[in-house]
Amino acid sequence: NKTVTIIGAGLAGCEAAWILSQQGISVRLHEMKPQKFSPAHHSENFAELVCSNSLKAQRLGSAAGMLKEEMRLMGSLVVDCALQTSVAAGGALAVDREEFSALVTRRIKQQENIEIISGEVTSIPKDGYTIIATGPLTSDAFAAEIENLCGGSLSFFDAAAPIVTYESLEKEKIFFAARYGRGEDDYINCPFNKQEYERFHQELINAQTVPLKEFDKRDFKVYEGCMPVEVMAKRGADTMRYGPLKPVGLRDPATGKRPWAVVQLRRENKEGTLYNLVGFQTNLKFGEQKRVFSLIPGLAHADFVRYGVMHRNTFINSPKLLDSTFCMRERENIYFAGQITGVEGYVESAMSGLLAGTHLARKLKGLPDLALPLTSMSGALSHYISGCATQDFQPMGCNMGILPPWPQRVKDKQERYLLIAQRGLRDLKAAIGEE
Ligand code: FAD
Repeated sequence: NKTVTIIGAGLAGCEAAWILSQQGISVRLHEMKPQKFSPAHHSENFAELVCSNSLKAQRLGSAAGMLKEEMRLMGSLVVDCALQTSVAAGGALAVDREEFSALVTRRIKQQENIEIISGEVTSIPKDGYTIIATGPLTSDAFAAEIENLCGGSLSFFDAAAPIVTYESLEKEKIFFAARYGRGEDDYINCPFNKQEYERFHQELINAQTVPLKEFDKRDFKVYEGCMPVEVMAKRGADTMRYGPLKPVGLRDPATGKRPWAVVQLRRENKEGTLYNLVGFQTNLKFGEQKRVFSLIPGLAHADFVRYGVMHRNTFINSPKLLDSTFCMRERENIYFAGQITGVEGYVESAMSGLLAGTHLARKLKGLPDLALPLTSMSGALSHYISGCATQDFQPMGCNMGILPPWPQRVKDKQERYLLIAQRGLRDLKAAIGEE
């Protein structure tokens, strides 16, 4: 039976389904929405972006830009749909999240060899090939099954940023600009003077948070890529000013000067009616979010259409369990893909789905394993999750640090990164036979 079962139609599950279907392989794609939603999923569509609407930098000489280009070369559905539904966001690839998910869903549903099966899966299929792509918020019953299968999953919390309406902002207090003039006024900037910032900081560190449930406290760890803003604020009065509230590359037209600190708002939809607070993932109580975030210049009367919330993250101990093709070492018919493998981020999750699908398609066709070069971002990440030597395995997103360094000294970092990215792409093209 060559039909592949995929569990979870998120970023990874959709990529895997797409790649297999393009290879002429039939797919049974299970998704629990709309019967059941995780605490962070709200849309009935597949490939939902649950927090930020950004797929990070587009520039080739950046880790995320390089990864997206590799995926594009390998036939990524997610990257293609993201490019088609992008919204202005400086040098980043941000999307209109509704349009993006709707497009992915449509493309998947149009495939004749993909059968969609609605409803929660609670047990791992006994026969045939399966890709498990149920994500960081895998349903409890299925998470217990996975734990049984591999005995190596753990969970902790992430936080999502609030969204406000454009019309509720005080326009005279804010200004449009992209840092260093990169991009055309893509962000709204809310400039603080020193006094305003200090008051905001005080209120933020003393605000009430949602208490963690007892059973969750044990596994709670701050996810550095999505650290709650109040946790960051508690690290020091200036920590936020060196993080998401950094004022560098910005000049307030009202004063002609660089502000003391800046909150940036990023466009959430194409129409520009909704904006999210960049870096403001949070665990504050909703009432406290309204009170404290309204102290941000321009947000005194802000209409919050979504508040930030806390979320769990579930991932398996991949170095112990998976090989570099995302297949279980002990079960040659079971693959994992997505955030549950310990890759971290939208693009990385999609990438692992793309790779799991590609590797499995080759296996089903009797072709030898595809050895991805370690100089490519996808190869380096596959290698990391299947072979990293650390005792305490933690998720990893794409970054230039996991690639082999450039052999010669090139002082300029951007130039060096570009050379590294070009090398990776060249090696990847050779490996996949595309020159
Ligand atoms: P998902 O996209 O979550 O897809 C899994 C799918 O499986 C879902 O549709 C779900 O409904 C379904 N499912 C679950 N259990 C079952 C079951 N038993 N049966 C059938 N279907 C099931 N990454 C970023 O790059 N930027 C961010 O801003 C960001 N924010 C995040 C915020 C939160 C709250 C969380 C939890 C994660 C965030 N991530 C972010 C990390 C990660 O990149 C995303 O979660 C990404 O969506 C993971 O892709 P995935 O395909 O692995 O899982």
